[in-house]
Formats: sequence, C-alpha cells, structure tokens
Amino acid sequence: QVVVGNLIGEDHVNFVLMYNMLTGIRIAVSRTQAKIRRPLTDEDYLARHKYSFDIVGNELTPSARYDFKFKDYAPWIFRDLREEHFHLDPADYLLSLTAKYILSELGSPGKSGSFFYFSRDYRFIIKTIAHSEHKFLRSILKDYHQHIINNPHSLLSRFYGLHRVKLPRGRKIHFLIMNNLFPPHRDIHETYDLKGSAFGREYPEEKAQKNPRAVLKDINWVNRGRTLAFGPEKRALLTEQLRRDMEFLRKIGVMDYSLLVGIHNMERGNKDNLRENQLSVFHPEMYTSTKDMRKAVKRSDPQNFDVTKLPLEVDRNHFLFYQDEGGMQATDEANQAMDAIYYLGVIDICTPYNTAKKLEHFWKSMTEGATISCVDPDTYGHRFINFLQSVMRGGDMSLRPAGLMPDI
Ligand code: ATP
Ligand code: CA
Ligand code: CA
Repeated sequence: QVVVGNLIGEDHVNFVLMYNMLTGIRIAVSRTQAKIRRPLTDEDYLARHKYSFDIVGNELTPSARYDFKFKDYAPWIFRDLREEHFHLDPADYLLSLTAKYILSELGSPGKSGSFFYFSRDYRFIIKTIAHSEHKFLRSILKDYHQHIINNPHSLLSRFYGLHRVKLPRGRKIHFLIMNNLFPPHRDIHETYDLKGSAFGREYPEEKAQKNPRAVLKDINWVNRGRTLAFGPEKRALLTEQLRRDMEFLRKIGVMDYSLLVGIHNMERGNKDNLRENQLSVFHPEMYTSTKDMRKAVKRSDPQNFDVTKLPLEVDRNHFLFYQDEGGMQATDEANQAMDAIYYLGVIDICTPYNTAKKLEHFWKSMTEGATISCVDPDTYGHRFINFLQSVMRGGDMSLRPAGLMPDI
C-alpha cells in the first residue's frame, strides 16, 4: 500500500493495455466532444459505442500500434457529468489522458485485484474494475447522474468515463476514470480509509511508523486520537452531505465503501517530499526500455512538470469541500482557519450487497477468514455515518460502533 507509482515503460507487462486504454479514450472522447450538444435521453444511459483499432486504421479509427477493440459506455452521460457537473475542461481532460504520455501504476492497493493508474498530471485515476462492478455501475448510472445533479457538493467518487478494452486473445478489461482526491502539489502526511467497522481495520502501527504513505484504517484513526477538526459551520455542511450520499448508497444497495481521508499538515508543508516519483512525465517514444527511462529520469528533474500551473483553481468556485487548495481546511470552533487541509471523498462505491456476500464467501473459503465484514446496506450506512459523526471534533462518542473505542 505504497502510494508511489511504478513507471510503465514499453517492456512493462501492462504497457500494451495502457497504450490501448489511452488510445481508446482519446479517440472515443474526442469523437463525442466534436458533436454538438443535445438534450439527453434515456437511451443515452444504455448506449455503448464500439471501436475497432488495428495497425492499418480506417475511416473511423486512426491506425494504432496494436489490434484491439474498445467500448465507450454512455458517452453522452459522462460528457454531461464532466462538463456540466464536475466542471472539467474538455481539452484539459483529453490532454491529461493523452496517449503520448506514460502513466504511472499504483499496482493493486486493495484486495479486489483492481489496478490503479494515474494520469500524467496526477489529476485522474484509471481503475480497472470487475465485470460485476461494471454491470452494476451501468445499472445505477441514471440514479448516480441524478444524485450528482441534485447534490453538486456530493463527496462520492466522480466518475468521468466507463470503458472496456478487449485484447486480441479475448481478454476484456473494464475500467473507469475518476478524480484523484489527493493533490499533486501537496504532501499528504497521513492517509486513512475509514468504514466505521473494527473488523480487520488496522494497519500495523510498527509498519506505519516506517511508511508515511501507508493507508491507515479505522482503528489507527481512533488509537491516534484523530478527529475531523472542523468548526460548527463546516461540520454541519459536511455531516449533511455525507448523510445524503450515504442515503443514496443505501438506496442503491451498496456497501463496503469508505471515506478516504488525506491530511496535509501545513506546518510541515512539502519538506518531506512525499510526492517524490508521483509526478514525472514520460514520453514512451523516447525510451527503448524501462531501464533507459529510469536512467533518464534520474538525470533529469523528475518533477520537471510544473505543478503550480495545474488548473486547480477551477474547483474553487464550484465545490464546497474542495475549495481550499483542492481540499477542506481545518477550522476551530470560531470557524477560524487552522494549519491542516483535509482531502476527503467517498470511494469504492460499486459493490452491491450480493456481490459482497459472494466475495466474503470466496475469501472465507480461501483463507479461513473473512476479509470484509459483510453487513446489509442499511446497517452499513448507518454505522458509517455514526462513526464519522463520532470522529468530528466534539463528536458524539456514543454513536461509535462497538470495537471502535480508543485503545487507552
Ligand atoms: P478493496 O475492494 O479491497 O477495498 P479496491 O481495489 O476496490 O479495494 P479502493 O478501495 O477503491 O480499491 O481503493 C484502494 C485504495 O486506493 C484507497 O484506500 C486509496 O488509498 C486509493 N484510492 C482509491 N480511490 C482513490 C481516489 N479517488 N483518490 C485517491 N486515492 C484513491
Ligand atoms: Ca475499498
Ligand atoms: Ca472494492
């Protein structure tokens, strides 16, 4: 669970996949983007556009380096989400995900086997997802869209695109594109993934001491005595939005999601340089091997990409919880700013209860122990909200689920 990307060079096992994903996105997104906007219809939620790429090319798709098929799901819906609701600049989006640049790979930080890739500027994450999650997301896309329309300040993962790549030998890889909650220009000093459960929710403290990039969990949060330090105003807004988001997830029957929390300590600033390796830009055509590339990166400035020029400002006017340097600054009881910025979002929201039950069963049979504590979406949602309310500064400890009391 180290948040450092591995570079993907031409000899990387996933180079072809990455190349195909980016080429597909570039062509499919620019094609939709080139059309004149029109009112959305119900068919748009189910739409899927197919592309076939090969080394020769044809009138619809330019020639590509490999043969593969690409599907773009609900392109008009995602375009609407990106432009109207997430206020992304279309050109920016394409530029960030352009095939000319290599992504870095976060590997598989969760247990699910998903892979995560950062866009070159670290603003977007590509997450490969299971077919079941893909089907589920398509089935609730209309509800999700509606929720985002009704809740412009939602903390739910922002989905920008849903796609599929099919390799010649038939392997199908589903993936989605979402926002990176963490900023490219700020060290995150502590990261937590909070679910409101005690079950398996501890990262070993000894290991955490040695690894500032570890993703810590509920029990670490409680034992370290952390709170979400917001004054009355932000506390009320945040609680209300989290409650609405939870209600939505409960309604669509989802569980196993978490609140991802990144804390930037402004006194420490960026001097620990925890962002090292996170922000390099690579041009695949320039290097013949990863070794070559690494050498070149060592020689040059790995942070040659000017993060101060990133368009972080766009979010400021639109998003309540992302308006302070892309996050939410801590405040005291008089609502005065304090020296920390929280980066918050609800992630991993595509696991319906039924799938979770099957997964739990699978893991139990494999490992003699469950890796998730499977509870129904109602119980899950309420436990989640209660826990988060109990960890707001001055929060109500009586709401805290059993097993999540401080270890003192
Ligand atoms: P599992 O199902 O085992 O929890 P998963 O493969 O579904 O794993 P996620 O829970 O979505 O993965 O994410 C795993 C980790 O990746 C998170 O704890 C977080 O560290 C990082 N991560 C996920 N989504 C984001 C995001 N939008 N922004 C920043 N980091 C993220
Ligand atoms: Ca998760
Ligand atoms: Ca998951």
